[in-house]
Amino acid sequence: MFKVNDNFTKLPSSYLFSEVARRVRAYSEAHPEADVIRMGIGDVTRPLCQAVTDALHKAVDDEANGDTFHGYGPEQGYDFLISKIVEYDYRRHGIDVAEDEVFVSDGAKSDTGNIGDILSTANRVAVTDPVYPVYVDTNVMAGRAGTRGADGRWSNIEYLPCTAENGFVPALPKGEPDVIYLCYPNNPTGTTLTRGELEKWVKYCREHGALLLFDAAYEAFIREDDVPHSIYEIEGAREVAIEFRSYSKTAGFTGIRLGYTVVPKELKGLDAEGNRVALNPLWRRRQTTKFNGASYLTQRGAEALYSEEGQRQVKETIDYYLENARVMREGLRKAGYECVGGVNSPYVWIKAPEGMSSWEFFDYLLDRYHIVGTPGSGFGPSGEGYFRLTAFNTRENTEKAMARLNE
Ligand code: PLP
Repeated sequence: MFKVNDNFTKLPSSYLFSEVARRVRAYSEAHPEADVIRMGIGDVTRPLCQAVTDALHKAVDDEANGDTFHGYGPEQGYDFLISKIVEYDYRRHGIDVAEDEVFVSDGAKSDTGNIGDILSTANRVAVTDPVYPVYVDTNVMAGRAGTRGADGRWSNIEYLPCTAENGFVPALPKGEPDVIYLCYPNNPTGTTLTRGELEKWVKYCREHGALLLFDAAYEAFIREDDVPHSIYEIEGAREVAIEFRSYSKTAGFTGIRLGYTVVPKELKGLDAEGNRVALNPLWRRRQTTKFNGASYLTQRGAEALYSEEGQRQVKETIDYYLENARVMREGLRKAGYECVGGVNSPYVWIKAPEGMSSWEFFDYLLDRYHIVGTPGSGFGPSGEGYFRLTAFNTRENTEKAMARLNE
């Protein structure tokens, strides 16, 4: 009989969003009159901007014509998009990234999940806690996580708590990890790290020979000057860091699917014989073997984001979400809650009232105010006692929810 990959059977079922849905359904059935406002989802709600839809329509016409038809494209992405990425996302900000260091993909979830393919399963991993669950679960799948303890922690993963006690700034690791995941602006806490903080991480990785996997999926929400948009703004990061970007939250591409990953040519790790090996060709080999490229249509859509109208229209959408986040921060604080995030991020992270667990607070908000969020404990042990709300609902619903909390 064939055997399955046992690592998959070690994973607990992903219970968070299904349990949220189950409780909301049960509540709505019991209280059909309740106007439930959903502020738990991490999906965007505003449509694609006009510049993108125009480009998508045009790309469909290209595909309908034998002279302009595109079949398989380059696995790592079309030059017309990569040249825009390099110019607008990096060079214009004084950052040195070359065209052959950019790999276009169908999104940051795939890339942050797949990057482990080119890394030894012997590496020790560190994550911030709470964390985007993909980093942990994909390391479990690869057999890198060890065993799961009663507290939900994996024995071979170092958890770096981010709580009110340390101002949501993770301390440098103690366990000599080989691979460190950082996501800033952070999901789920909505907090950021300053330039000075990120400099410490790059220095740590350089001194300890660690790889930094930097997820910048929420980069477009950054509004404060001291918060770097790219890890490569930090000197020396090219030798230690891979950066992941996504058009999902930046431009409403959650359904369209597109992102990219930067693997600098200087970045090297050790092979089994102790030789230094560049990661860029390994990732290229991985992608060209297992991925057949993002579609021509989506890449033409993303190209349009870099036009003058595209940039303006996207900024308008992100400003809309950020204004929702401001309304949430103010409303929550007025109602007596402590919260962080929502300044350079669509996420607001709330401290549950003293003595209440994340799930108790979930039930309380649903029952009393008909507001749905996401229990922080679903993002890791240090998320217990916290709660995530997102700014992706409409302005009207966001204002209504905050008014209810202040009634
Ligand atoms: N990284 C983080 C931190 C996220 O929160 C998300 C989506 O919620 C992703 C990556 C996934 O991005 P994409 O839609 O590009 O796969």
